Amino acid sequence: MKVAVYPGSFDPITYGHMDIAERALKVFDRLIILINVHPNKHALFSAEERKDMVEVTMKNYLDRMEVIVANNLTVAETKKLGATHMVRGLRAVTDFEYEFQLTHANRVLDNEIDSVYFMTDNKYSFLSSALVKEISLFKGELHHFVQAYVKNKMIEKMK
Ligand code: ADP
Repeated sequence: MKVAVYPGSFDPITYGHMDIAERALKVFDRLIILINVHPNKHALFSAEERKDMVEVTMKNYLDRMEVIVANNLTVAETKKLGATHMVRGLRAVTDFEYEFQLTHANRVLDNEIDSVYFMTDNKYSFLSSALVKEISLFKGELHHFVQAYVKNKMIEKMK
């Protein structure tokens, strides 16, 4: 059974993240979404809130997918979970440099765990959680970017 971990902040999950997860589920038998808790990175939502939003928006896939929260080194957690690959998404060339660095650093840490990249649908190639947070801050319409459940959580959070 091929198992992959899809790590990220998911603060909050957008249609872009969902697109990547759906593509990965066509290749891997099982996908574990790993919500990273960065001690130095301020998140809008708590890890448990982010997990809840991923579980609700991806509810149709939960037979082959699970969501976990970790504050461990991602590559170490991937191995511990019995996965062989880490999934990441690429939007545009701007993502490449950071992802290049990350992949090579992870290979130095553990050469048995490899990273695979999926390109999102073109219509999500500009979309990021940071952008969604900014639009939400100024009360812009969010339904183009996130599911209704996430949209309502964002509206509540911004009150
Ligand atoms: P991180 O803080 O680790 O970058 P994110 O939640 O922002 O976490 O992103 C997790 C992964 O999902 C990254 O590989 C990122 O490039 C990818 N991703 C996020 N949004 C999109 C999108 N709109 N299209 C494709 N990939 C995306």
